[in-house]
Amino acid sequence: MKKLGFGFMRLPLKDSNDATSVDMELLYKMVDTFMEKGFTYFDTAYVYHQQQSERFLKQALVDRYPRDKFTIATKLPMPFVKTARDNERIFNEELEKCGVDYFDYYLLHAMNAERFEQAKNLGCFEFIKEKKARGKIRNIGFSFHDTAQLLDEMLTRWPEVDFVQLQINYLDWENPSIQSRACYEVAVKHNVPVIVMEPIKGGSLANLPEEAVQLLKGLDDKMSAASWAVRYAASLDNVMMVLSGMSNLEQVQDNVAYMEDFVPLKEEEYKVINKVVDIIYQSKTVPCTACQYCVDGCPKHIPIPKYFALYNAELQALNKGFSTQKIYYSNMTQTMTKASECIACGKCEKSCPQHIKVIDELKNVAKTFE
Ligand code: SF4
Ligand code: SF4
Repeated sequence: MKKLGFGFMRLPLKDSNDATSVDMELLYKMVDTFMEKGFTYFDTAYVYHQQQSERFLKQALVDRYPRDKFTIATKLPMPFVKTARDNERIFNEELEKCGVDYFDYYLLHAMNAERFEQAKNLGCFEFIKEKKARGKIRNIGFSFHDTAQLLDEMLTRWPEVDFVQLQINYLDWENPSIQSRACYEVAVKHNVPVIVMEPIKGGSLANLPEEAVQLLKGLDDKMSAASWAVRYAASLDNVMMVLSGMSNLEQVQDNVAYMEDFVPLKEEEYKVINKVVDIIYQSKTVPCTACQYCVDGCPKHIPIPKYFALYNAELQALNKGFSTQKIYYSNMTQTMTKASECIACGKCEKSCPQHIKVIDELKNVAKTFE
């Protein structure tokens, strides 16, 4: 299998305020372009696109290609599993939504210490093991957002996993909260192949400060900023697949062009990327990946990732001496709750896999824009 997977979590939308308004005609073209170049791996989840991503996958892929021409990964949504019986009910619902009778890859979604306990109590891992034995799943694993120490404990308890999905990108490689490198090394120690999520960190490594852009252009001015991030993750020996949540045809065309005949990074390219990391850390942007996990639980319905995207763009513009995003913030707050209306309940921070101090950052957003 080629090392690039198509993530169905940031699909193209007709209305940016409606996650279910996917532009299906455009998505068909994106899937066709991806398949034509020999890529076959698709990653969805129960929760993506307001629980409709799996249906979009059925429409764009399963209904249009023979089952043996692609592989599908989807995930058990841990917050929805309240009793042991929910395992079976949700799994069957996912088979129906995707329109398939087996999954190639199936994961316990976004595992951390709390969800590890939940999975042990509700038999989630035993459930997916049994589904594999019955041929309903080909490969079992989990996606993970916690410490390397916990990953070690989980892989020791569940040695039957076929793979683990980790957040790996050049910005988080040495990040003490995300622990990309340490987690990767634990997977290597257990001899478990890695699928990489967030190689471009929610798109943020495709929109770099100008100084960083120039450094990368100095290596090869035809390569996109995103390409360096995807190739960085794919260059790791134990990585079997790198996922990219593609949102338009240009991103698909770019990704498949440099991943079709993948070439690992060279020594001098790693050196330049290390300099890019220093520049990004100096720019002090919020490391939000726009995963949306924080949004549903917010009692004030604050569009947290949208505000962080504006704030990050504003910081970069301010570095160049001008302000560009205030008008957008002003427009958005005509219909959406302002950042200053956050009541500091902390729900968002508990669900953020990037460990962002959302409450403090929203104060910065309010200070900058209001
Ligand atoms: S802390 Fe603020 S932003 Fe976070 S969930 Fe509570 S109200 Fe929403
Ligand atoms: S603040 Fe955290 S949970 Fe919310 S969208 Fe950003 S990365 Fe995801």
